[in-house]
Amino acid sequence: MTENKVHFERAIFTSWYCSIGDCAYCYMSTQKKLIKDPERARRSEASVLAEAFLCRKLGWKIGFLSSGYGSYTSESILDLVKKIHSIYGDKLWLNVGVLNENTIKKLLPYLIGLCGAVETTNLQLREKVCPNKPLDPIENMFKVCDKYNLKKSMTFIVGLGETINDFESLKNFIIKNKIGKIIFYALNPIKGTVFEKSKGPEIDYYLEWIKKTRQNFPEIEIVAGHWVNRVGYISKMLGFGANNLTKYPTIKLFNSEFSKIIEEEIKKSDKKFVGTLTKVPMIDVDKEIDSLDPLLFNENLKNQMKIKLLQYLKQLNKNKK
Ligand code: SF4
Repeated sequence: MTENKVHFERAIFTSWYCSIGDCAYCYMSTQKKLIKDPERARRSEASVLAEAFLCRKLGWKIGFLSSGYGSYTSESILDLVKKIHSIYGDKLWLNVGVLNENTIKKLLPYLIGLCGAVETTNLQLREKVCPNKPLDPIENMFKVCDKYNLKKSMTFIVGLGETINDFESLKNFIIKNKIGKIIFYALNPIKGTVFEKSKGPEIDYYLEWIKKTRQNFPEIEIVAGHWVNRVGYISKMLGFGANNLTKYPTIKLFNSEFSKIIEEEIKKSDKKFVGTLTKVPMIDVDKEIDSLDPLLFNENLKNQMKIKLLQYLKQLNKNKK
């Protein structure tokens, strides 16, 4: 990969529901008892759509739409994807659990590809940290992707208890499933989980995963999830082979010291950042939202989107000096 541009890939989180709900590292596992109804657990549609609009205006890629397993029916995910595709103007990645072939077929016109929440390829560890999220259904979904020429990506969390010797199993998994894109997260310890006292992986260990992946797969797309505490290492992540960045609260920390460091780190690596984490663009909210396709967005939805968008813009301007 010789691409010199770096994008921020924002994962648009859409729902707190998960029918699995017991992965040991996941926030949703702390909420499982409280959240029973997938429909009520969804974020408001207007808020999700306003966020997608903001991604386009700020030059952020939508990394994927994300939710727990079973959050959507075939119809509800199709409706959401159509709307976001219309706002964003590009096809989307989804990371919403394992989808069946019929649903995938309906979504085809709007999709780049599907992401499998693999997290770790050490099978013994996987039994412990995601006991009810087996790999087989994910791999079967990847086969459906092959059938319909969809791209395939996977997530991998560094720091769950694997060692670098497990790289071989990751390598085999990537080869077997012809994975084109991998998102590396560093374990973010969540209160109420068994990992709450963990500090997350050491930076050199995290970087080693990126480095080895790039050495073994010159063409794969690598996305590095750095969170707030690792922004000072972004030039290294890019130097070791990451293409793009993710997992950082871009709206909450827009134009903060952390966001400025991210932009500096990208410059330091001699790459060009597409988009911005520090400059709020001019947006004529009324005009732009009014111009959305009336067949997909009714007046009520447009009005709610405007309210949400103004709230987001207020947040973006908070750190303005
Ligand atoms: S399947 Fe995903 S959302 Fe559900 S508990 Fe596991 S990691 Fe969390």
